[in-house]
Formats: sequence, structure tokens, C-alpha cells
Amino acid sequence: MQADTIARMAPKDLIGKRVSILDKGWIELQDVMGDDLAIVNAARVSFLGESKGEEKDKRLLFYLMEHRHTSPFEQVEFKFRVRAPLVTWWQWVRHRTWSFNAQSGRYVAFDEDDFYVPSAWRMQSPTNKQASLGALPNELGEPLTQALLAHYEASYRLYRQALEMGVAREQARLFLPGFAVYYTWVAKVDAHNLMHFLALRMAEDAQYEIRVYAQAIYEHFFKPALPWTAEAFERFVLQHH
Ligand SMILES: Cc1cc2nc3c(=O)[nH]c(=O)nc-3n(C[C@H](O)[C@H](O)[C@H](O)COP(=O)(O)OP(=O)(O)OC[C@H]3O[C@@H](n4cnc5c(N)ncnc54)[C@H](O)[C@@H]3O)c2cc1C
Repeated sequence: MQADTIARMAPKDLIGKRVSILDKGWIELQDVMGDDLAIVNAARVSFLGESKGEEKDKRLLFYLMEHRHTSPFEQVEFKFRVRAPLVTWWQWVRHRTWSFNAQSGRYVAFDEDDFYVPSAWRMQSPTNKQASLGALPNELGEPLTQALLAHYEASYRLYRQALEMGVAREQARLFLPGFAVYYTWVAKVDAHNLMHFLALRMAEDAQYEIRVYAQAIYEHFFKPALPWTAEAFERFVLQHH
């Protein structure tokens, strides 16, 4: 009984928690609906939400995951607020099962430090055209970072100049370094589609700049909110991915 109570209470306790990611990014849980028991109860709808005891409840949840009985997992919802570079945003929004609302660069001007500065420069993988492998040595990486900062400064100066000339924000932003601008959005998804996202975006072949967000969601929000689901997800999905 106590375990069920804890499972039901815990997800709401995570609301407002914010995790820092990359140099200026973060992800925060804005809201959550449901818990492990909500998934079990959805599958057992005729029992009107009653628990049949921890052991049976957990066994049913594992059965659902193993046999791809996915719809009960859609009964749990997460809403996040995310701040990440645009390169992350473009990959994230390919996931059509999420609902998004994003900051508007037409409405609010971008700030001077709104640009992503990587902590290391990854080398192009010689075998995988989409992947990186290893890091650029520091003696080359440091001057490259300085060049990037100078590039951001010049871009931002031109952006401000255009704004001061009266150019609309929607057009002045053409001067900003597209992939690097930090963007803020709200994103809502159910647990089934979140697991699909996590399996793809926590994988080794996902770009680092989205992988760190997926890993943060999993470790800081998904696992503590849905410990049984996470255990079953690791056993029946991640291990075979
Ligand atoms: C490592 C990696 C590399 C990638 N490289 C590229 C790339 O080079 N170019 C590129 O364009 N994209 C690329 N993508 C994006 C990828 O093709 C998918 O668009 C993205 O991962 C979203 O996956 P999804 O469609 O399964 O997810 P969602 O959009 O969340 O959809 C979830 C599931 O719902 C179903 N579904 C949703 N909408 C439809 C629909 N309209 N019709 C039928 N079924 C639907 C599908 O079963 C889908 O798997 C890459 C993704 C990864 C992880």
C-alpha cells in the first residue's frame, strides 16, 4: 500500500525541477499526469483503478511493455520547458507526436549571450557520414572557440544594427548564427511516445546536442516518475535497440 502511495505522489513532486544542460541550456518539468499505477489501471480499466497489489501490478506493466501493448503508456503525460540551441530544436520537432509551443524571434529580440559555445570540438567520423568521433586537440580547439566567439559577436552586432535601423525582428534575425541560437519551448508528450523519442535520441548515433537532453529527461524525470516503466523499458526496449 505504501509503495503504491509513493508511486502516485512522486511524479508531481518533480514539478519545477530544472536540470542544466550544455553551456546555457536547461530542461524543467512543468507538469506531469499519471504514474506507473495509472498505466496498470488503464490496462485494467474494468477494475476501476484498484491496485491488485504491487507484485501483480508490476508484473502486468512488464507484460504490457514486453508485448507492445502500448496504449496504456499513453495515459501518462509529461510537459517540459526546454532551453536548447536551434540545432537541438530542429531534431526534436521531427518527433510529430509531441505538442510544442516555442519562443518567437519575431516577438522578442535575442540576447547577446543567446548562442551555444561547445565545450569541445568533435571530429568527423571517417565511417559514418552523420556522426562524430573523438575530439579536436586543445591547441586547435581553443583558437577555433575564439573564432566562434568573434563570429557570434560580429553576427550579433549586425543584428542589433539592423534592429536600430528599424528592420523588423523577423528579418533582422537573418544575421544570427542559425544553428547556435538558444531557443526556449514548451513540449508535451505521453510516456509511450516519450520512450520512442528516448530510444532514438539517447542512442550513440544521436547528435550529442540532443542526446544530453534525452539523457537528462530519462535520468532526472522519467526514471524517478515511472520507476517500473523505466525498468521494463530498459529490459524490453533499450536492450534490443
Ligand atoms: C540518428 C538519427 C538520424 C536522423 N537523420 C535524419 C536525416 O538525415 N534526415 C531526416 O530528414 N531525418 C533524420 N532523422 C529523423 C528521423 O527520420 C525521424 O523523423 C525522427 O527520428 C522522428 O521519428 P519518428 O517519425 O519515428 O517519430 P514521431 O514523429 O514521434 O512518430 C512516432 C511514430 O508514429 C508514427 N507516425 C507519426 N506520424 C506518422 C505519419 N504521418 N505517417 C505514418 N506514421 C506516422 C510512426 O510509426 C512513428 O515512428 C534522424 C533521426 C535520428 C535518430
